[in-house]
Amino acid sequence: MRIEKLCVRRLFGDVAGATTHGHKMAIKGGYVYQTFQGGYTLSPLGWRVVHNIENIIRQEMNAIDGQEILMPVVSGADLWRESGRYDRVDVLVKFKGRSGADYVLNPTHEEVVVDYVKSVLETYRQMPFMVYQIQTKFRDELRARAGLIRTREFIMKDAYSFHETQSDLEEYYNRCFDAYVRIYNRCGLRNVVSVLASTGDMGGNIAHEFQLISDVGEDTLFLCDCGFNANKELVDEKNGLCPKCGAKMRLVRGIEVGNIFQLGTKYSDSMNLTYTASDGSEKHPIMGCYGIGVGRTMAAIIEESADDNGPIWNMATAPFAIEVIGLSDKDDYVSKMTEQIYIAIKSAGIDVLIDNRAVRAGEKFADADLIAAPIRLIVSSKNLANNIIEVKYRVNDIDTSEYKTAFGLDTYLSEIMETISKMSGK
Ligand SMILES: [Zn+2]
Repeated sequence: MRIEKLCVRRLFGDVAGATTHGHKMAIKGGYVYQTFQGGYTLSPLGWRVVHNIENIIRQEMNAIDGQEILMPVVSGADLWRESGRYDRVDVLVKFKGRSGADYVLNPTHEEVVVDYVKSVLETYRQMPFMVYQIQTKFRDELRARAGLIRTREFIMKDAYSFHETQSDLEEYYNRCFDAYVRIYNRCGLRNVVSVLASTGDMGGNIAHEFQLISDVGEDTLFLCDCGFNANKELVDEKNGLCPKCGAKMRLVRGIEVGNIFQLGTKYSDSMNLTYTASDGSEKHPIMGCYGIGVGRTMAAIIEESADDNGPIWNMATAPFAIEVIGLSDKDDYVSKMTEQIYIAIKSAGIDVLIDNRAVRAGEKFADADLIAAPIRLIVSSKNLANNIIEVKYRVNDIDTSEYKTAFGLDTYLSEIMETISKMSGK
């Protein structure tokens, strides 16, 4: 990709209306554009990051035997009347078609997935299984604020598992818990904690939230040295004492990036989803559900990592792995070599951006900080005279001394590949 063709508007100087440092950097970098209050267009940069996060989630869900499906955004109101939630969920958008039929925009998909599984599930031999989707949802939040944390429209991974016994659900719930830990690690989030949560109007017994500890978070969390963490619904806020060990708990703010629930038979009961058990009787399967806010995970990464120059991505989430910057100063040889290096890297199948524009070096470096490719290659007449390409790394809060500061011109492609795989932790 050529930087001058990138359909992204980057901003320099102050940004009006940004609520947090991360929000400001997302706007400055042109990752998102607010289309309406609570709804954003993802630019080519933002979409690349979201797509990378989706692929991490997809790999980890498939690794715990999840099966990807795609359910419709809209469904008939009848499914929500059947579960009893039609009049109880305040963020549910209801509308009528021209024929007079009642529809909803699904803000979550328990009803739709139970209806689907009814068409599939016959016997206990089919269980356990989990289906998941990555899809857009809309919730008519009253308090959608500016910012990327609480939006009305968002991309979510939602997963639903079906079990014969409570112990089987618990075993799968733990596998999913571990998969979530891997997902946040691979996204480069360092301060995500799991907290015990109340199950609210989702029904069920046990639930955990995955929260990024952050001063700009909307949620209040209580953490204890004994390892017991909970959200405020589960701790007496007045004394803030640990329900498990009695010690004083630490109060922090958090951004919720995921949640997992043991739903029980709430939905299979109310919507009469059954299977034939081994003893021949008809039973309702026990369900779990597992959500991750995909766009919110991107917002959380920026919030946690961005410095004053822009976001910081790891190799797994970055919109481009490498940016090639030519400092040509009207030197045709430098300009030609910059193009050649770009084409060679692109041909090797690496996501690479080229900045060979006739603009000041300072402008190029400011753009490079906002786009934040983890590896930058600087091509200049001085470097070429020494037969090297200078390497700069976007990440400056980790020890980059183990990485090279220059690649030899004759071997740069193999050295780049080696560095990428090292930075990806592979
Ligand atoms: Zn404790």
